[in-house]
Amino acid sequence: MIAVIGCKGCMKCDEVCKYNAIIRNGNKVVRIDEDKCKKCYECIKACPYGALFVLD
Ligand code: SF4
Ligand code: SF4
Repeated sequence: MIAVIGCKGCMKCDEVCKYNAIIRNGNKVVRIDEDKCKKCYECIKACPYGALFVLD
């Protein structure tokens, strides 16, 4: 799974996710829809704040 720590809500990850797996979790923070996520990790590369981490 992908953990989100220190998200700034810029939504750059959402722009690159082809599977619509980025969900805005209120208050400018995102979470990942694990059912939709295909583990391509494009979001991790795209995050300017290093806020996304692979946990498995
Ligand atoms: S790993 Fe890929 S599919 Fe999963 S949320 Fe990130 S960009 Fe979307
Ligand atoms: S790219 Fe990073 S900082 Fe921007 S919304 Fe996504 S996780 Fe948050």
